[in-house]
Amino acid sequence: MGAIDSRAALWLLACPLAFAADARSSFNLSEPQPGVFVHVGRELSLTAPGHDDIANIGFIVGRKCVAVIDTGGSVTTGRELRAALRRHTALPICYVINTHVHVDHVLGNVAFKGEGASFVGNAALNAALIRSTELFIKAYSNDMDSPASADQIVRPDRLVEHELTLDLGARPLTLRAWPKAHTDCDLTVYDATSGTLWAGDLLFRERLPALDGSLKGWLAALDELAAMKVSVTVPGHGPLARDLPSAINPERVYLRALAAGVRDELAKSGPVEDAIAHVASEQKSHWLLWDEVHPHNVVRAYEELAWE
Ligand SMILES: [Zn+2]
Repeated sequence: MGAIDSRAALWLLACPLAFAADARSSFNLSEPQPGVFVHVGRELSLTAPGHDDIANIGFIVGRKCVAVIDTGGSVTTGRELRAALRRHTALPICYVINTHVHVDHVLGNVAFKGEGASFVGNAALNAALIRSTELFIKAYSNDMDSPASADQIVRPDRLVEHELTLDLGARPLTLRAWPKAHTDCDLTVYDATSGTLWAGDLLFRERLPALDGSLKGWLAALDELAAMKVSVTVPGHGPLARDLPSAINPERVYLRALAAGVRDELAKSGPVEDAIAHVASEQKSHWLLWDEVHPHNVVRAYEELAWE
């Protein structure tokens, strides 16, 4: 027994990398469709420990190369995704695609900088990242390598105005840039080979949708998304969906209630505090993180709808 223990101890000392690999293998990754790999983020607030791993991120593997779609909310999460990717394929990474500007989707980009990939996003993503740089460094420095710096926030070198097809080798991905909705730089990715739609934060499930673009634009985008024929949808947050119209419905009900409630309050010239308390309150029990997200949504809707 003692001899076995000694040999085990020696092996441990000799193979620290084996244990590093074991630790990384806990990075949860599923393959809902052949060649489509998704890490489902945790349902935590942006201020909770573990907040750097709340978005759904992953990659799609073609015959020639790989496209990463969103990279997580820290350099560490990005590195974990890259390590998980390398356990599945040795193919080069051609593209790192960001679905929008939010920190939980982009801060891991720098982990892929040495891969020779092209970074791809909505035509408005570059400006949005420049606007967000100060906030990211101030509020999320612990999620970057120390010292936090602007050069760790990797911006796109290839922009999508409307639509762009990228080929991973017998696997075309159709990227679509959307008018202002969840943000001003939303982008979806459709993998025709598997019928998978990567919806980014145009689709939230379980976690309350956060409005940072246009309420009217988002509702219009949902109408278009609901008409798409897809096999599997990867939302920005929450579980994957097989039935897209059903998956969209709770978000649409909430956003419609938000719009109707805010219009009512505006008609009464009521203070925004009242609106935060009353608007769409019947929806509260259906969603996670209501108190963190809903007040902000009401304020954004007030600003937008006041100009109708
Ligand atoms: Zn977002």
